[in-house]
Amino acid sequence: MSAVSNPKRTPVFRLLTIASSGLGSFVLGLWGLKLGLGEGFAGISADMMVAMMAALCALAASAAAMSFFAGVDESADFVFTETHFDKLTGLLARPAMVGKIAEAACATSRTGEPMFLIDIDIDRFKQINDAIGYSQGDELIRAFTKRLTTCVPQRALIGRIGAGEFAVLLPDNQVSGSLESTIERLIDEMMEPYELSTHLQSVSLSVGIVAMPKDGVDPVLILRRSNLALQNARASGVGNWSVFHAEMGRVADHRQWIESELNTAFERGDFDLHYQPQLDLPTGRIVGYEALIRWRHPERGMIPPMEFIPIAEETGMIGPIGEWVLRKACSDARHLPDDCFVAVNISPVQFMTKDFVGTVRDTMTSTGIKPSRLELEVTETAMMQDRDRAAAILKQLADMGISVAVDDFGTGYSNLSYLIDFSFGKLKIDRSFVSRLDTDSSSGAVVSTIVGLSRALGVGIIAEGVETESQATLLRAAGCEVVQGYLFGRPAPLKIRIGDAHVTDEVRRVANLH
Ligand code: C2E
Ligand code: CA
Ligand code: CA
Repeated sequence: MSAVSNPKRTPVFRLLTIASSGLGSFVLGLWGLKLGLGEGFAGISADMMVAMMAALCALAASAAAMSFFAGVDESADFVFTETHFDKLTGLLARPAMVGKIAEAACATSRTGEPMFLIDIDIDRFKQINDAIGYSQGDELIRAFTKRLTTCVPQRALIGRIGAGEFAVLLPDNQVSGSLESTIERLIDEMMEPYELSTHLQSVSLSVGIVAMPKDGVDPVLILRRSNLALQNARASGVGNWSVFHAEMGRVADHRQWIESELNTAFERGDFDLHYQPQLDLPTGRIVGYEALIRWRHPERGMIPPMEFIPIAEETGMIGPIGEWVLRKACSDARHLPDDCFVAVNISPVQFMTKDFVGTVRDTMTSTGIKPSRLELEVTETAMMQDRDRAAAILKQLADMGISVAVDDFGTGYSNLSYLIDFSFGKLKIDRSFVSRLDTDSSSGAVVSTIVGLSRALGVGIIAEGVETESQATLLRAAGCEVVQGYLFGRPAPLKIRIGDAHVTDEVRRVANLH
């Protein structure tokens, strides 16, 4: 809770209180003396005089005390207002909202009537705030609050529980129609642009919902669960909402477990690299291998990279892990056929680290790998974080003779202008296009376009995720002759890969080779 200061209790106010009561006592004392002395003690005994003075002093003291303590009540009110209400919006602040959730939980346990907690978050509010400036950010929050109060039923309670995060306590009997339609209407209305004094601001929202008492009655747990539902909604796209279910808690626990385990796993040597062949269809030759990291946990077995790489990126563990992958792949290349390269996945975080090129250079020197035998797979997203820096890094890598493949091509940015600025050697068509080739004719058109683009740019092309013969045939017909996928070989440990530079008869058959 932030420290609060009451203007009525400032040192100046206290000084004024004490000075005025002191002055009051002094004047009263003077008046008493004048009364006593002025009449020359006529008719008033000395005792009486002392008693009068004492009474007057007591009166002055009590006045002083009263005036000093006056405002204590306002002070309590002040602290209450400061801590219970959000200054910017006047809505209930987070601690007060926790109290209201506890009250609602008690009521719902007693009556059995459900109560919903709706957690509404403005996506990337921090970035919006940084971009438009804090005063415009405040204006946006005020406008948002104003609209929210008109959009929710009157008996709903609203709190601001984070910078761009709001919670609504909604009794079931206030929901008109279904909860689903109420939430969808709310999201639609709240996502209409906001007219700020300088511009029109669009926002997207993510919404998580918990139901009391079904999903619990502990206010802290309820808030955690509504937030888990919110994160789940955010992961599934713009303007989405999700209702909490128990699986979400397990996912969050698993995430936390991975985070706590990564470091130990790395030091214990749990990680290994598997290699998946990349094949040139017309010659049937394996031209390279993609190195794919594998984590075998001693108790929990295999943990897929999609589960731990994003967490390693968030926690910074991708630094040591990424360097290890690069070094291991470069040294493993010695055991692979001389005319094959190794392709190493580079995380966006790794690509943008200060001395990425230096690390690559050192690794090449220490492992003795020739630059032509190393390929780096970098996603469009990684390159777009800071275009100028990415262009400089790519240029340095090209100067060193290292080829870069644009991984997951087609899934990132629709603006292709960056392709002109960047030095890279290959486009890698994403698996999502390949997997739909059999069933969806527009995927065929996308693939042909990417092949055409690669030719126009004078760079190589490869398709990943080829699982069926017809996909291979369609790709070849579209002009994509280098492929990778389960059809030609699954990722496997190095010892299985050593010496398999040529395709088996089965692969020869599916690759239409004679
Ligand atoms: P990616 O770079 O797109 O790698 C291809 C993924 O598709 C691999 O999954 C591979 O096993 C899988 N795959 C290959 N052929 C087929 C197929 O025919 N069908 C299907 N359904 N899948 C196929 P994996 O090994 O689970 O890796 C997933 C992602 O994790 C990779 O996607 C990459 O983004 C990341 N990753 C893997 N290893 C590393 C690494 O060493 N460093 C970094 N930074 N990321 C890595
Ligand atoms: Ca890849
Ligand atoms: Ca991919």
